[in-house]
Amino acid sequence: MSFDSLGLHAEILRAVLDSGYTVPTPVQAHAIPVILSGRDVMAGAQTGTGKTAAFTLPLLNKLQPYANTSASPARHPVRALILTPTRELCDQVFDSVQTYSKYMPVRATAVFGGVDMKPQIEALRKGSEIVVATPGRLLDHVQNKTINLSQVEILVLDEADRMLDMGFILDIRKILSLLPAHRQTLLFSATFAPEIKKLSEDFMRNPEVIEV
Ligand code: AMP
Repeated sequence: MSFDSLGLHAEILRAVLDSGYTVPTPVQAHAIPVILSGRDVMAGAQTGTGKTAAFTLPLLNKLQPYANTSASPARHPVRALILTPTRELCDQVFDSVQTYSKYMPVRATAVFGGVDMKPQIEALRKGSEIVVATPGRLLDHVQNKTINLSQVEILVLDEADRMLDMGFILDIRKILSLLPAHRQTLLFSATFAPEIKKLSEDFMRNPEVIEV
């Protein structure tokens, strides 16, 4: 199995090859084609399995065709939202998004708490197709009206079990309620505790469950 056979656009494959990866990891091989087909996915994956690329590569694929290359923020609505439990993970996922999207005309912004909101507001104001966020700070931006989530097409809940362990369940439910109903939802979690299953029943459409 090679990355070429997964159905990813050439500019994404190029960035993957630059990273030195030649063979998809099991979670990538299973999840990428299903995500590309448009289905919701619930994937059981620990850190270190290559899960970040498993959702980031097909997410980027979905952003083609690009809105356009205009500098107007209205033309760069947030189309993909990735929620992570911690600032550290937010940063790491943001780095991966930057790495894999380097040949694409899309912008990404990281939004996490514990730092000044102003640079984030400025980045969001310029327009950003991809936002990687921690839940609390994302809701601060919603409240401030410095982010508009009305055009989100794809949502990723990364390390969903950790987000619940950290007490983000109400924040997550609030965020989910703000997103368009017509979207693709991807949930990655090391475990599928009852609360995770409940979340998927409430907010996902017939997800394909992938466990590797
Ligand atoms: P993650 O589970 O997403 O935190 O990824 C774990 C590590 O595996 C990261 O350092 C990635 O850069 C690396 N990685 C992801 N996919 C591949 C791949 N297909 N081949 C080799 N390394 C990979």
